[in-house]
Amino acid sequence: MAGSRQWPIVIVGAGAFGLSTALHLIQDGYTNITVFDRGDEVPSPYSAANDLNKIMRPEYEDPFYTNLAIEAMAAWKTPLFAPYFHRTGFLHCVSGKAEQRAKDTLQRFRKAAESHPILSKFVVPLSSRSDIQEQAWQLDGDLPGWHGYFNRFDGYTHSADALRGIYRVLQGCGVRFFLGESVGTVNSIVYEQSPNGKRTKGVTTKDGKIHAAELVIIATGAKAASLVPEVGTTVEAKSWSVAHIQLTDEETSALRGIPIIYARDLGFYFEPDPKTNLLKLCPMGGGYINTNKETGISLPPEPMNASVGFLPKEDEAKLRELLRHTLPALADRPFVKKSLCWFADTVGSHFIIDYVPNSSKSVIILSGDSGHGFKMFPIVGSWVLALLGPQKAQSNEQWKWKSSKVKAGSGWGDVVSWRVGTTTEYKDIRRFKAESKL
Ligand SMILES: Cc1cc2nc3c(=O)[nH]c(=O)nc-3n(C[C@H](O)[C@H](O)[C@H](O)COP(=O)(O)OP(=O)(O)OC[C@H]3O[C@@H](n4cnc5c(N)ncnc54)[C@H](O)[C@@H]3O)c2cc1C
Repeated sequence: MAGSRQWPIVIVGAGAFGLSTALHLIQDGYTNITVFDRGDEVPSPYSAANDLNKIMRPEYEDPFYTNLAIEAMAAWKTPLFAPYFHRTGFLHCVSGKAEQRAKDTLQRFRKAAESHPILSKFVVPLSSRSDIQEQAWQLDGDLPGWHGYFNRFDGYTHSADALRGIYRVLQGCGVRFFLGESVGTVNSIVYEQSPNGKRTKGVTTKDGKIHAAELVIIATGAKAASLVPEVGTTVEAKSWSVAHIQLTDEETSALRGIPIIYARDLGFYFEPDPKTNLLKLCPMGGGYINTNKETGISLPPEPMNASVGFLPKEDEAKLRELLRHTLPALADRPFVKKSLCWFADTVGSHFIIDYVPNSSKSVIILSGDSGHGFKMFPIVGSWVLALLGPQKAQSNEQWKWKSSKVKAGSGWGDVVSWRVGTTTEYKDIRRFKAESKL
């Protein structure tokens, strides 16, 4: 496929992976880029990154991702991204009741941080309540049995604001956006026969229009399988719960600067957002999938409000315990803005950044964020530029397209090393929601 900076390129999905790709393409001199998103605005309500904040912690069990996240961290500190990055530190612990699996995972992360030449000097061991309070004096709970480490190198990103900010930059650079259910939802990729097999000639949108393109980049997050059915069960739409507590101005102010408070067996929360006074929390767990019995494929339930306004009772119990251990004054506060947030999981937690097979290298898929992709927002597009380079192939084995051999609904949450808990079908927690109304 001959390359030209004037090629019409279509990006489907204005989430973290799609916007980053548009940015890198523009910066590399591509001039004809159109982005489609089914949401009415950026950030789209369907984006996993449409959220107050995401953890930016480079330590991974796999040194490849550690180094990649350190590269991303450098980019978060550049003028374009710096307004959305807050280096509060990461207080990474287990509670005294944590199962061995959570303790082992913590140890692997700790080792990754302590043994890394860049990270090690930022790491402080935590073995008692007073060690923890030295890093976060606001935590006045008993912190029963809590231990772990504090990493000052880390922090969080304001993800919704970051998407919004980069969207504005892209609009200013001439990237065209089609947003909204009718004009922005891509229904299909259009193919034609070429001498080398099938290749794309564009996409169709829900309003019935065809938009021509030489290259189509699919960055639809948890919905990957709906446009590229060939991914089959290699990408599994999965969700975790998110909840918030509405604080007062004074409470927000008192908690200003707290690190991310993370117990691997319970969940985590962030510094409250000064604009909204919302404190965001996420419970730890194996997540929820929504498997179609006939196809074996998990996709997010539709419509959008199927994922909004409830918190599974096990998740609520974990969050209340997390608060009782750390900030007991908040332990019984109502949770607001509750939802399930859907991402694209893969069995090894590896991204999929590759050409779609049999597309004559005219369709790229960016998926499989596996719930840890937002930290890479500033650099995802550079991986696409690498794919478009002379070799026109993914050289990183972990990110290559994989054929669909994984058994659907097999509960990856039970085997993914960094998660604790089992994976549950969405229909089972919806039953709880229905009962709770009685
Ligand atoms: C609860 C939760 C917590 C997380 N925490 C962290 C964290 O702490 N740190 C971290 O690094 N990462 C975290 N993540 C992961 C992070 O949110 C994702 O890695 C990231 O958002 C993936 O980006 P994406 O572009 O692939 O998908 P998304 O951001 O979901 O974007 C996909 C976009 O595609 C659009 N779309 C879908 N289908 C169509 C269609 N047919 N036509 C047009 N548009 C379409 C959607 O509207 C959406 O805007 C978390 C995820 C969740 C769910």
